[in-house]
Parts: sequence; C-alpha cells; structure tokens
Amino acid sequence: MQHIAHVIVDVPTRQTDQPFSYEIPEELLTLVETGMRVEVPFGNGNRHIQGFVVGVSQTDTPASQPLKKIISVLDLAPVLNDELLLLADDMKETTFSFKITCLQTMLPSVMRSTYQKKLCLLDEEVPEHIKEDVFQGLSEVPWEDVVSSPYLREVIALRQAGKVDIQYEVKTKNKVKKITVMQPSMSAEDLQAEAQKLRKNAVQKKKLLSLLLSLKTGSMTVNEAVKEHDISRPAIRDAESAGWLTLTEKEVYRDPYGFQTFKKSLPLPLNAEQQSALDAIKEKMAANQHCVFLLQGITGSGKTEVYLQGIAEALARGKTAVMLVPEISLTPQTVTRFKERFGQDVAVLHSGLSQGEKYDEWRKIERNEARVVVGARSAIFAPLTNIGLIVIDEEHETSYKQDESPRYHARDLAIWRGKYHQCPVVLGSATPSLESRARAQKNVYQLLQLQERANPEASLPSITIIDMKQEYQQRRTGNFSQMLLDKLSQRLERGEQSVLMLNRRGYSSFVMCRDCGYVLPCPNCDISLTLHMDTKKMKCHYCGHEEPIPRECPICGSDKIRYYGTGTQKVQEELAQLLPESRIIRMDVDTTRRKGAHERLLAQFGNGDADILLGTQMIAKGLDFPNVTLVGVLNADTALNLPDFRASERTFQLLTQVSGRAGRAEKPGEVLIQTFNPNHYAVQLAGTQDYEAFYQKEMFIRHRGNYPPYYFTVQLVVSHEEEAAAAKKMYEIVVLLRQFLSPQAILLGPTPKAVARVNKRYMYQTVVKYKQEPRLHDGLKQILNDSQREISRGLRISIDVEPQQFI
Ligand code: ADP
Ligand code: ZN
Ligand code: ZN
Repeated sequence: MQHIAHVIVDVPTRQTDQPFSYEIPEELLTLVETGMRVEVPFGNGNRHIQGFVVGVSQTDTPASQPLKKIISVLDLAPVLNDELLLLADDMKETTFSFKITCLQTMLPSVMRSTYQKKLCLLDEEVPEHIKEDVFQGLSEVPWEDVVSSPYLREVIALRQAGKVDIQYEVKTKNKVKKITVMQPSMSAEDLQAEAQKLRKNAVQKKKLLSLLLSLKTGSMTVNEAVKEHDISRPAIRDAESAGWLTLTEKEVYRDPYGFQTFKKSLPLPLNAEQQSALDAIKEKMAANQHCVFLLQGITGSGKTEVYLQGIAEALARGKTAVMLVPEISLTPQTVTRFKERFGQDVAVLHSGLSQGEKYDEWRKIERNEARVVVGARSAIFAPLTNIGLIVIDEEHETSYKQDESPRYHARDLAIWRGKYHQCPVVLGSATPSLESRARAQKNVYQLLQLQERANPEASLPSITIIDMKQEYQQRRTGNFSQMLLDKLSQRLERGEQSVLMLNRRGYSSFVMCRDCGYVLPCPNCDISLTLHMDTKKMKCHYCGHEEPIPRECPICGSDKIRYYGTGTQKVQEELAQLLPESRIIRMDVDTTRRKGAHERLLAQFGNGDADILLGTQMIAKGLDFPNVTLVGVLNADTALNLPDFRASERTFQLLTQVSGRAGRAEKPGEVLIQTFNPNHYAVQLAGTQDYEAFYQKEMFIRHRGNYPPYYFTVQLVVSHEEEAAAAKKMYEIVVLLRQFLSPQAILLGPTPKAVARVNKRYMYQTVVKYKQEPRLHDGLKQILNDSQREISRGLRISIDVEPQQFI
C-alpha cells in the first residue's frame, strides 16, 4: 500500500496550478495531514520547496513512475482547516488567481516560506582549497558566500562534473517565543541548610537562596530574577547543577496589548432603533440562519454598540465572531472598546503589529483561545471554527479589496463564510457603497437603519460650505478662508479642539520649474514624482523610485524650481503663522511611519495636548473625541475630477465621515467645507448629510452611464516592456473575449491606462461591463491559458473582478 499526499507547491504559474502527488514516506505516515505545510522536492534540480497538503489518499497499485517523497513536515498540526481549503478553491475561481497564492494569503506572513540556496559537497574528491576555502571544512555552505568568493568558476565546473550541487532549503520563520522559568526543587529546610554551608562572600548565592525561599512552591522567570532581583545568570546556572532549582522552558505569546489593563465595560441600554436592529440579528442567530444585513446608521448612531451586543450573543451561544474594521480605523480607541467588553477573548490582527505578534495572535485564534477576532481585511481568514457572527464596519471602504493577487473583496469572503457557518453577516456604514445599498433595496440584503445619534446629548453638526473661488476673488490666497480662521480662533479662546483635514486623494505635491514649466517625472512611470519633505526625497508612488530634490531645473538650469501643491506640512507652516498661539498635531504618512506613532499622536490629542489635529484622510474615521467642536475640510473636491466613476461617491463618503467627528458629545459641533465646486451634488448633499438623496441622484447617474450597481465590471490589464507588444496582446484578447460575450456586454477599450507606464512596463486595459454573461468566466480562463507562452516571454495579464480603482 502506498500513501499519497496531494500537494499544491509554492510555484505560482499556470502549469503548476494543480495538486502534485508525493509519496508519504513511512516515518512521516502518522504526521502528514490535509492542511499542513510540507517540504517537497520539485523540478529537475530537485529544488526543495514548500507545499500545502490539500488531500491524502492510498493506492495498492503504485504508478509505474515512482513518486517523489515528501521530505519533511513544516507544521505539527494543520494550519488550514477544511473550510479555509474550500474557501481557497472558491477564491481561485472568482479572482482568477493561483491556488498557492490564495493559500499563502490566508496565513500570517511569517508562515510564508523563504528559501535558502546552499552549495553541497557530493564527492570528497574535490581540490583541497575548495574544501577549505569554499566549504571551510563543512559539507554545505550558503550560496551567497560562494558567489562572493573568487572560486565561483571552479565551483560551476565542479557542479557540471557532479561533485557539488546547489540545493534549496525551505525555511519557515514562524518562531514560537519561549521564556525560561525557575522553580525551587528543594524543601525550605534543605535550602536553608544550603545557605548555612555558604561562605560569607558568596553574595550572589545567598541572594538567590533567599529569593528561592520567598518563592515557596511558586515560580519566577529567569529574566525577572536577573532584572528585578539583580541575580546573575551564572549563579542561576550553578544553582541548577547544585539541584537547588529546576529550569523549564515555557511558550508565551507576544501580546501587543499585554502592558495595558482594560477595565470591564458593560453593555449599554439600547435605544429603540438599536434594539430592533439587534433583535433582527439575534433572530437569525437563534435560527442558525445565514442572512446579510446592511446596518445603515449615521455617524455616532451607535452601530458599534450593536456589533458588540451581537458578538456577545454569539459568545453566549458558544460561538465565535469576526469583526472587520478598515486598517485606518483600527485605532487604540476601537481596540479598547472590544478589549473592555470581551477581555482575553479578543485577538487583534492588523499591520501595526510585528510579524511575531501577528503570528501569536493567529495561534491564539487557531487554538480556540480567542473567540473574537478584530482585524483589518485579512482577518477574514481568521482560523475560527463555529462562527456565529461576522461584522464588517465601514463596509464601503476600498481597503477591503486587495489590490494585488488574489484580488479578493473581504465582503464577498465574509458572505461566503457566513453561508458556510449558517450565520448572519452585518455590513455597517453611515454611507454604504451603492452596490450594497442597491442590494438592500432589492431585499438581497436586509436593511436596518439607525437615524439618530445614540448619545442623547449629541446632535448632528451644522455644516457650512465655503466657496473658495469667491474667497480667492476677495483677497485670500492661502489654504484658509476667513470664516475658517475666525472659527479656529474662537475654538482656541474657548479651549475646544478642532480637526482639519487635507484631502490628499488625487492631489500631490510636485516640483515644477517656474521658468520652463518642467515637472520632474519618474524615469520608470508616466507620472510626476511626489515631494516628501520629511525624508527630503522625491518619490514615485507607483514604483517606489526615489531621488534627491533637485536644486535647479534639469532642462533649463533655472534655480526657480519650486514646490507646488499643498502638503500637510505646508499647511502646518501656514497655520503656525496665522495662529501662532495654536498647538498643532500633524498626522500623515510621514509623521505616522514609525511603529506606535499613530497611537501616540492620537493619545496626545485626546489628552488635550493640542488644539488642532491636522491630517489627511487617516483622521476622517473612527475618532471619538468629545472636545472636538469644529471640523474643517480644506479642500473637499480634489478627488472629484479623477477619471473614476466612483469619484463622487468617494467624496461624499469622505465628507460625511469627517463631518461625523464633530459634536460627538454634549457640545454642539460645526463643520466647514472649503471647495471650488460648491454646487456639486456630492458636496451639497454631504452638506445636508442626506445619504438618501445622494443615493437616488448617484443611482440615476450610474444608470445613465451603465455603471455598477446596474452593471458588473471586470478589468483586464496587459503589460509589457514594449508598448507595441502590450497593445497587440490587448487587441487579441478583446477579439477572443467577444466570442464569449453576448451583444449586450459593453467593452471599454483597449486603451492605455491613465498612468500608461509603470515600472518600465506599458499598461493597456479593457473593461467589460455586463449584466449576465454565463460564458465570461470560461472566456477569461481561456485567455489566461492561451497566454502561457507569452507570459514566459515577459507579458503579464491581470484580471480584476469588480475593480475599485479605475485609474
Ligand atoms: P457609530 O459606530 O455608529 O459611529 P458609536 O457606537 O461609536 O457610533 O456610538 C457613538 C457614541 O454613542 C459612543 O460614545 C457610544 O458610547 C454612545 N452610545 C452608543 N449607544 C448608546 C446608547 N444606547 N446609549 C447611550 N450612549 C450610546
Ligand atoms: Zn526649467
Ligand atoms: Zn515610478
């Protein structure tokens, strides 16, 4: 009988996108299970790579060609359960990606394999100097060392002669953190007797003995003994050999919130709207029924309290819960709300954690030690079993869609998992995406609404729109209207706080020559470089290229090369001049790059250490500061003119969100929106906080333009280093695709992308808009298969289902 494992290998290509069969050797028989990572040989050179076991089987009639054998197991227990393996199958189909990419996306990044290339000695009959200088007396050495040695040519010749070979070793970085604990292993009397025997000057030993006596039968970490009690490590080691104490290693979690204590918060009595929303959710839970709810509630209406009580219900039923929050609003405030309610039951997953911390949070979930997972997009892969509720807060946020392969949307996966577990999924937002709102309209989702602010003392802020065109005609040229300045000074006098947002979307700071108009471009992409003041560099936001800030124009040599556009830093300087007495905290990518900086700045603002919080979009969400009574938006409309059909929707959402930061408690709030497009409906309707009117108007426009939610969309992008090759392929694809489509489908393009060249590659795109095209999926798969050969020649094709960004 032969035991076979079916393995998806870590080689993301079309040819290898299927399980390969490996023999499970005798000694691993009891260890290999579906869902584990293994190390397997692959290809001709017998490279060692990582793979995932997706199934095991047995056969009595082994194949004529002997199977390769699994080399080792990388896990002691499966890391992906049956549900997640099924989900990966689904993702692969719906996002047109490789199975291996889907599987790896589901795990913390430390569990992705790295490979080490090694040179191995196969035959002792090699020249002495090779043994000594290259191998240094060992049988294998890292390949990097060989490459940098003067013997590279010789080594290559020896490899051709079969005397040495290159091998790859799979490494996993997921290290469990361990601490050493000491415990007395003698009775108190015996320890005292030992103390009697000590010489006078054996100070360390005496100290250690009295510490051991004080522990009685308890234990203490070695680190604590060293740090807190000033005992040396050699003394502890000696004591172990003398039999005074025993040392044991214990596994511990790196807990990012370990240093904090959370007080227990109790559920608030709900208002009538909250109660009926919660009741609807509970009813489905009680019936073990899947259902998607759209919880549409204005900012501050108490959606979070509904989520918290829904999750409590899931726990009470012995189940688990997932709570997704956009990365940007995973603030300490948010985490604290969950920790205070559910304590140790909460695991938090977000990008601010170190890799080790993330891995430990993941392990807690996997071992059923945390039943509530709060996290950003990828937390949808939390290895929870028995899920009773899934919540996606701010469901309209684009960050829920991953913008690289696999291009999944967390909302779709949440619904998939909700069906699998037969549990409700709650999508919450003050400004739902048009897609979700339209589904609620058609009763695909069940609509729950909260129309009042939950805190009875709070009321919605009053909103004023300021026409910056007029302002400029009158006199001002800076970033501040007279009215905004007046209101800011007023807040300073009253000791209240203000939040100012500079909308950075579609806006960048660039360097232009005043004499000839030259703008510094990226050498690899068709886009201008952005100025980063803090690092004093020009940077490309597409490919990451960096260069120094020029002192003179590279074209005409003029030194009048100046900085254009408005950055937060420039606004801060302007504000410091206009209101010299104000204390300002600035929050943008530059000031929050360091770990923990985001938290620290918010804590400072919360403590009242500043009067004004000035920031980019990152301040628009989730903040709940009672002393904030003024919100100013410096430039409401920079994103309105982007060539994206969602530009209005994004602007409306952002303005509504940021307005919601004012007047969260008893002090009334005021919002000022500065704009050059005061009559645009997205600005106007954000001004009246009228989501319903916006929804109607925008649906009308989408209908007229045949856009989502009336149509589905798929975007195909082809790229190549030669423009002609990219264009030609895109045209061929369109011809092929037409054969799979009905006349009702609409094709936009082929066109060069808005940024036509990225990272030295030319990008061509086509967008398919359709309502019902049963053969589209097959067509797209065929396109991928047919392009195999060109892919190896440098062509890249990507398929993005429901793209969220059209530029
Ligand atoms: P949202 O998530 O809809 O923006 P939150 O859940 O953050 O709203 O609630 C806004 C504020 O109202 C919070 O300070 C919260 O503690 C408070 N709140 C929520 N529900 C109630 C309630 N039923 N009674 C009193 N205050 C509430
Ligand atoms: Zn110039
Ligand atoms: Zn670039």
